[in-house]
Amino acid sequence: GMPVTPPPVLAPRRPTRRINVGKVAVGGGAPVSVQSMTTTKTTDINATLQQIAELTATGCDIVRVAVPSQDDADVLHIIAKKSQIPVIADIHFQPKYVFAAIDAGCAAVRVNPGNIKQFDDKVGEIARAAADAGISLRIGVNAGSLDKRILAKHGGPTAEALAESALWEASLFEEHGFGDFKISVKHNDPIVMVNAYRQLAAQCDYPLHLGVTEAGPAFQGTIKSSVAFGILLAEGIGDTIRVSLSAPPVEEVKVGQKILEALNLRQRQMEIVSCPGCGRAQVDIWGLANDVTDGLEGLTAPLRIAVMGCVVNGPGEAREADLGVAAGNGKGQIFIRGEVIKTVPESEIVATLIEEANKLAAEMEHT
Ligand code: SF4
Repeated sequence: GMPVTPPPVLAPRRPTRRINVGKVAVGGGAPVSVQSMTTTKTTDINATLQQIAELTATGCDIVRVAVPSQDDADVLHIIAKKSQIPVIADIHFQPKYVFAAIDAGCAAVRVNPGNIKQFDDKVGEIARAAADAGISLRIGVNAGSLDKRILAKHGGPTAEALAESALWEASLFEEHGFGDFKISVKHNDPIVMVNAYRQLAAQCDYPLHLGVTEAGPAFQGTIKSSVAFGILLAEGIGDTIRVSLSAPPVEEVKVGQKILEALNLRQRQMEIVSCPGCGRAQVDIWGLANDVTDGLEGLTAPLRIAVMGCVVNGPGEAREADLGVAAGNGKGQIFIRGEVIKTVPESEIVATLIEEANKLAAEMEHT
């Protein structure tokens, strides 16, 4: 086939060491991965595995499950074994669950040192268990559960406090010869979060897991995460991402993927290029764009489909796209890669675009 020019990116990725979360490499030039976390009770094995299957089908690379009790720890081996994607156990408070998760075959363990009493004394044992099992860790610092000493020193969960806390905990692992971890420093304010990650990026070479914590319901959380991740990823910072939404986790994965696609850090899936409509539009452009989007749901071929409301930008955009329509005057000119293939009445625009998109997608699969 034709040589493929890689799409432009805003910055080279920050060089980091590479760790493995099961079969998924993180850092060291590996593609930025998308994570989410189950919302089911971990002890409800079927519901948890069902949600993991949905996340996997949506394109999630890594999944995290909560381990708040011994009952949760007891089922981890089944979930780790049956999940199609690597499972990270999320541990707060109880170091014994860290060891249980490692024994259960989890791909990695997230520890929040601020929430583990006498964490400093436990580090050696945790490092040894992880090293023996060949798994990685995440040092996950959160504004809401920052180490008391550091909180007191900085007078609050500032960017400096978050970065200092994470680097202190990293140094404890280093003292025990362990370096297979990534770091997160989450805050609900995107600006504090961005500053904390910038400081970390300047001071260590560990891969970074990006997250804006408690980002809120879908609309607000999507914007907060998109802005914060966009700034950092545009500077080459960030190796794996988790969008936190007060919404079903598949929504987090969809947003995460679109952020990476928008930055050319992941191959773009199907993309609808539609105009906002204005006083010149001669069709119901919102309805048209929505109907085409709905009609093509589930189609993953990387097609660019232009839906344009009039002849001002319509033919130009439609020419740049794989498939497009420039609507107006009760009809639509249908373009395929720059050529007008036909003109159809307005009522047939949606059906025609869907039919042609499916044909193009099928052709792509066969080449
Ligand atoms: Fe308005 Fe036409 Fe531009 Fe759509 S393509 S926003 S209808 S000028």
